[in-house]
Amino acid sequence: MRINGKRSGVLYILLFAFISGLVYLFLSILLNGGSWVIQPYNGHIYAEDATATTGKILDRNNNILAETVDGTRTYNSDLNVRSSLLHTVGDSSGYISTSVQSLLRGRLSGYNFITGLNKTPLTDIGFGDVTLTVDSDICSAAYQALSGKNGAVIMYNYLTGEILCKVSTPTYDPENVPSDLETNSAYEGVFVDNTISSTFTPGSTFKIITTICAIENFPDWDTRTYTCDGSLDIGADKITCLSTHGQIDIKTAFMYSCNCYYAQLAIDLGSERLQKTAEELGFNKNFAFNDLETAASTFNVLNAEDVNLGWAGIGQYTDLANPTHMMLIAGAIANSGTFVAPRITQTSIFNLGTDSSQKLMSSNIAQDLKTLMRNNVENYYGDDLFPGLQVCAKTGTAEVGNGKEPTSWMVGFSEDKSTPFAFAVCVVEGGSGLSTANIASTIMKMASDKYKT
Ligand SMILES: [Zn+2]
Repeated sequence: MRINGKRSGVLYILLFAFISGLVYLFLSILLNGGSWVIQPYNGHIYAEDATATTGKILDRNNNILAETVDGTRTYNSDLNVRSSLLHTVGDSSGYISTSVQSLLRGRLSGYNFITGLNKTPLTDIGFGDVTLTVDSDICSAAYQALSGKNGAVIMYNYLTGEILCKVSTPTYDPENVPSDLETNSAYEGVFVDNTISSTFTPGSTFKIITTICAIENFPDWDTRTYTCDGSLDIGADKITCLSTHGQIDIKTAFMYSCNCYYAQLAIDLGSERLQKTAEELGFNKNFAFNDLETAASTFNVLNAEDVNLGWAGIGQYTDLANPTHMMLIAGAIANSGTFVAPRITQTSIFNLGTDSSQKLMSSNIAQDLKTLMRNNVENYYGDDLFPGLQVCAKTGTAEVGNGKEPTSWMVGFSEDKSTPFAFAVCVVEGGSGLSTANIASTIMKMASDKYKT
């Protein structure tokens, strides 16, 4: 009996191992089949006329952005829509690795666990279609407002996470791919989605972060004054301001974007505090929204001399910011300190955007920033830019040297929850910060007209 008992024990162990193996195999295919099927060795999916890629890509209003007709992939009929959404939708050659057409190739191919890649009634009724959150009219308008300049425009609903506008330039027409993409300098960096994968000198938009650091560390932050004489000598170096602002408080300094005020504030805060706040707000890290990962914004002042700390506090020195990250900071300020994770697809089961919401600052600090950013628009930039929207914003003009025009920014949101949109606009060689206000104004007004609740 004892021998039998041992034998059946061994049999049970073997049976257990066998069943575990089966379960593992089954689950692996179920969970990973979609990504295995799109591996490069399944070359037939990658052929340019791949009939396997049957799924349509639609915008939020069911406008067709890409579809396969008679075995050929075609794109929206409007050139501006096609060009504005190249980096979001993708092209037929797979040049844009962060596009939906690259990331969701498995889903678009109609792959499912039961039938694999074979066509089924499910694919015929649109099982392989993907509906995006973007509005193609707003993307087209943002692209046209960029007027041929390079940059990034991104806007989302800060309550739901839906990205309404996402445009990166330079771009090209995926329907008629230029033959000189690799050689013409006008297309330099064209395969990179600037909203997701690039960083730019933030200029004065970084004063949002320096302000948050002051609120966290100086109980007298809102009454503390510094004097601006138009320039500030630090040792043998000099930080310059656009104007001579005199003795001012933070509200006025933030509104006029006074460099002398913020450089002195940054130096008084010190490198450790500023570094800590910047990292709490997401600098020096990537944000991953499922398969999409943002380029990390960077901030490093721990070994910086005072003059460089001063420059860093006003968004110069080695500071770099990713446009989507800046939009998330705006979204967090709008949403009591916590941003809602952005997403680009509508359906939840194949969602590009599963990273959770994150708290970047306390709700009290968010409220203080909201008041300061609202004051900027109300009393300086002008509410006529955003009629009826109650926009809170900060502009930036980042010097980049090498004889180039500054990079210009505008980051903001509508504090009215019936128009819950947050945005970041960044234009390379865009000139003064307020010139980007025109782009921000265009997309915010369109979103408000179409989606005000
Ligand atoms: Zn000044």
